[in-house]
Amino acid sequence: MANRTAKTEQTLPLLPLRGMLVFPHMLIHLEVGREKSIRAVEQAMETAERLLVVSAQKDVKIDEPGADDINEIGCLVEVKQLIQLPGGTVRILVEGLVRARIIRFTEREDYMAVEYRPIEVAEDITPRVAALMRTIVQQFESYVKFGKRLPAESVINVVNIEEPGKLADVIAGQLVLKVEEKYLQSVLEAFPLLLRLESLAEILGRELEVLDLERRINNRVRKQMEKTQKEYYLREQMKAISKELGEGDDKLSEIEEFRQKVKELELPPDAAEKANREISRLEKMPPAVAEAVVVRNYLEWLLDLPWNKETEDLLDVVRAEQILHEDHYGLEKVKERILEYLATRQLTRKLKGPIVCLVGPPGVGKTSLAKSVARALDRKFVRVSLGGMRDEAEIRGHRRTYVGALPGRIIQGLRQAGTKNPVFLLDEIDKLTADFRGDPASALLEALDPEQNHSFSDHFIEVPFDLSKVLFITTANNAGRIPWPLLDRMELISLSGYTEEEKVEIAVRHLMPKLLSDHGLDPANLDVSGNAIRHIIREYTREAGVRNLERELARICRKTAREVVGGRDKTVRVSVSNLQTFLGVPRYRYGVAEHEHQVGVAMAMAATEVGGDVMPIEVTVMKGKGQLLLTGQLGEVMKESAQAGFSYIRSRTQMLGIEEDFHEKYDIHVHVPEAALPKEGPSAGVTMATAIISALSGRPVRSNVAMTGEITLRGRVLPIGGVKEKVLAAHRAGIDIVLLPAENRKDAEEDLPVTIRKRLEIIYVDHLDQVLEAALVQGGDFMANHLLAAMDLPAGEQVTSRVPQ
Ligand code: ADP
Repeated sequence: MANRTAKTEQTLPLLPLRGMLVFPHMLIHLEVGREKSIRAVEQAMETAERLLVVSAQKDVKIDEPGADDINEIGCLVEVKQLIQLPGGTVRILVEGLVRARIIRFTEREDYMAVEYRPIEVAEDITPRVAALMRTIVQQFESYVKFGKRLPAESVINVVNIEEPGKLADVIAGQLVLKVEEKYLQSVLEAFPLLLRLESLAEILGRELEVLDLERRINNRVRKQMEKTQKEYYLREQMKAISKELGEGDDKLSEIEEFRQKVKELELPPDAAEKANREISRLEKMPPAVAEAVVVRNYLEWLLDLPWNKETEDLLDVVRAEQILHEDHYGLEKVKERILEYLATRQLTRKLKGPIVCLVGPPGVGKTSLAKSVARALDRKFVRVSLGGMRDEAEIRGHRRTYVGALPGRIIQGLRQAGTKNPVFLLDEIDKLTADFRGDPASALLEALDPEQNHSFSDHFIEVPFDLSKVLFITTANNAGRIPWPLLDRMELISLSGYTEEEKVEIAVRHLMPKLLSDHGLDPANLDVSGNAIRHIIREYTREAGVRNLERELARICRKTAREVVGGRDKTVRVSVSNLQTFLGVPRYRYGVAEHEHQVGVAMAMAATEVGGDVMPIEVTVMKGKGQLLLTGQLGEVMKESAQAGFSYIRSRTQMLGIEEDFHEKYDIHVHVPEAALPKEGPSAGVTMATAIISALSGRPVRSNVAMTGEITLRGRVLPIGGVKEKVLAAHRAGIDIVLLPAENRKDAEEDLPVTIRKRLEIIYVDHLDQVLEAALVQGGDFMANHLLAAMDLPAGEQVTSRVPQ
């Protein structure tokens, strides 16, 4: 090789290269296609040395390069092999011999030829050169390893090269395929060794950096790909599983539906955020896991709440008045109060203010009044019964961590209403109880308080809900039992029981038309006479309201419906005579509760939550030592009032016609039966005293008299409460004479309907003497007989005397 390259300024054919370079020491195949290039190769092949000069075109796009288009520095090569390819092109295998500088172009007709000079450089290995060599080899190793474009042997080929120039050329030659040409050209043109090594090191460094970047990008892309692929794969599997489990509907579409709903609902920001978070959680869960069921359930609740739905209020008091009258008979004072309340709201346009509480016995129309208010305002209506509620969670909901957790009743009610401003009836607020599970009253307080209910928090829903637009109405049977913090915020409106006349009117005007249409009957199908209704009231019901009356009438309607459908009779007539065929035997006896005057039994009147009732008080006298025995689960106050009566009697034995030392010989047992009645107040004082006196004196008590009043040690009769309810109850029980404390005269005259006052004899009393005079059967010396009889009787047996009426 040395002799071939030693020649100077020889002329040789030139093969212009496009897009590649040939370095010394390099074996490479070149495809030759251009006419002139093929000529040049043929020319070279004709000589024994088969030498060519190759040099790169400066611009690969030029087809017919001239002298200016060729780089000055190229390489002298020997053609080792030539293969003719189909289509006229040839492939040659060349070996790079030495760098060549083109001195001059010599023009030939059909190919290019150049005069050139070989460039040889002394290979001096300085420490710096050695260090660079080592660096380059390492770089090249990394390049091969990470680049993965060159076979691993390429490294073995270079590690043993000791000449720095050769090392650089061999490595550069291998890079040819990838690295941009102009950089490599700079290696080719760098004759001083140091310079050549440095420029190669730089190229390799850059190339490694690119490789590293590429690798990192690839990694990221691959990871991304893997993740998407994995998710896709899992989703497909999930779909398949759902299908297998028969959960046909696509989970994705469910998620989409939820998303869509969140958008449409325009939730408050915190609710929307919460919803979206839960939707994302749900999306990531397999559909069948328990947790997914919980989340889905939660989302359904959350998205079903009327966050923005609201009905327009119809604040028209005239219309409201009409509706209240349409729906209810009587109740004038109550309607008045409700209308005032609505008018105030109309004027102030504010929802803040006290909450109406309708107080009264069952069946007097509390619920139906609240419904009418909703109708008048054109609002939705919901009712939640608080009776027996003792767990705070019933109001405020359970946390979602509990199995089967649900929102509280308030939120449930709102979902049911479907608007955020319904009329919300909280029934029986006096029946709330508190225990270790928390106090429902305090949760309710938060819901009702206008100052804080704009963000009511339910444990289940977790995000606050605005209750400020809800119109709450509450009901209670007994205002005294409403927890006081709640009571404090309420405006009480009392409803009392109805008189018989009122009940008849209600039945005829309201209950019957409603029941007929409920049962699909025509008014012509059924005719219930007024008298029959009165009988139903008297003999089949005993109540302050009209609930049972409605129930009995409904029974008649059901029976009628059957007959009408059977086609047997198109008009059913119900009168007193055939009432029993519809309702069976009467449940109560109307008229005197007990038909016979009895010794030791007096009738008390009690105001109860269901509107008042009469209760008999029984007294038995037994041999003994003067003990006063009280049974029937009496409250403290009632016991004390029995004691007071007892003491009064002891102080007045003579006047009352009772043995003076009765208290040394007999025990007295006072019993109040009828467990369902409250026995708490002092108002049975006079009744107990009367019954004791009757038992001791043997004078019977008139069976058509009922009484009420507190008694003092001196026998004075003090006023009591609940006059109207008590008198109505006595009337229902068929009592003719009612004894009331004189101081209650005003209440009676104000509250009692005229019809009642006409039917009953009311005697106002202020001393027990007056009570005894009115209540005890006059005349006859029962005492002696009675006491004799009593002493012969075994202890504990009741003594009664019967006297014809
Ligand atoms: P409450 O809620 O007080 O227990 P409801 O409102 O349920 O009583 O009343 C029971 C039934 O009696 C209802 O059908 C109601 O419409 C009817 N009712 C009660 N009072 C009247 C009235 N004054 N006029 C017309 N219907 C009445």
